[in-house]
Amino acid sequence: MKRILLSVPHMGGSEIDFVREAFATNWLSTVGPHINAFEAEFAARVGLPAVALASGTAAVHLGLRLLGVRPGDEVFCQSLTFVGSVNPISYLGARPVFVDSERESWNIDPALLAAALQKRAERNRLPKAVVVVHLYGQSADMDPILECCAKYGVAVLEDAAEAVGTEYKGKPSGTLAPVGVYSFNGNKIITTTGGGMLVSHNKDWADKVRFWSTQARDPGRAYEHTEMGYNYRMSNVLAGIGRGQLLVLDERVRRRREIAFRYRDAFADLPGFSLMPQASFGLHTNWLSCFLVDEKRFGTTRDEIIRLLDLADVESRPVWKPMHLQPLFAGCERIGGEVAEDLFRRGICLPSSSNMTEEEQARVIDAVRSCAGHR
Ligand SMILES: *Cc1c(COP(=O)(O)O)cnc(C)c1O
Repeated sequence: MKRILLSVPHMGGSEIDFVREAFATNWLSTVGPHINAFEAEFAARVGLPAVALASGTAAVHLGLRLLGVRPGDEVFCQSLTFVGSVNPISYLGARPVFVDSERESWNIDPALLAAALQKRAERNRLPKAVVVVHLYGQSADMDPILECCAKYGVAVLEDAAEAVGTEYKGKPSGTLAPVGVYSFNGNKIITTTGGGMLVSHNKDWADKVRFWSTQARDPGRAYEHTEMGYNYRMSNVLAGIGRGQLLVLDERVRRRREIAFRYRDAFADLPGFSLMPQASFGLHTNWLSCFLVDEKRFGTTRDEIIRLLDLADVESRPVWKPMHLQPLFAGCERIGGEVAEDLFRRGICLPSSSNMTEEEQARVIDAVRSCAGHR
């Protein structure tokens, strides 16, 4: 029996043709027609200028630099996330401050954020920026978040790494704040094997990021540099894969949602095993199908479920470990954290690949069902 993995790449078919074209024309580096076309096609989809980069983490890094984050600054970030949201804060010599999630979306709690910013404003210690994450394909509640950040003049970066295809009130997630970033890592909803995209309302900012991502080489023949840059550009080969993936994005979103709702329906009669909430303000792609275990009612702990699924050759994972619990960020300030801790302790991600078969999903369902009441 084949092991069922959490989230694997799913090619649409045309990617290989784009890659062949890159080889045939010998555009095999970080310049070429696929890069320009991938940016243009992504930009057309989200309605903002877009810059193709080597990873989502690189996009967060350059995005925070755009927002003016400097050594010694503080940056608020939702605690319940993947470390890729936070490491770039450290790259810039700034300090993260971790903010708790709300239960409705699992993302940054707008009321808690507003209260924290008010307190900071009174003490003249506002953060330089806030990183808002759209976790597992579900949008954060952007309106109140943007409103309170605007009130205090605090910049916002949307980490939509897990939210390609997600919407907030009909608009693509990642496009509501001045800067948004996406990831095309191998486990995400569409992939370039590795890669990222930064979008911005400000075209000059997008151009600046493109400049920084290619070592900030000044115009002219000589290798002259005025600013510090990075080697963060996406390659033309991988951009070709991205072009193919973009063609099937809507199908991937439909399929991920279908998988989540099939799980939900199949577990409807199991007490204490419930799908992550689907907030009314957004289109949740359910990039990963996440469930919350109520140990008393379900009769089995989350960790025991993961162990039993593993024995049945089904991969599952805990929800992200909150950043305020990470040894890496010991000593960092936090604002709340009880909700994130609870979601981490009780949350489980089930196999969610868009190319999993009906039979494979049935195997996962059977395996989860046989865990119930297994003390
Ligand atoms: C995957 C991810 C990133 C980083 O993206 P990479 O392309 O893997 O560098 C950042 N933030 C979140 C929330 C992610 O899930």
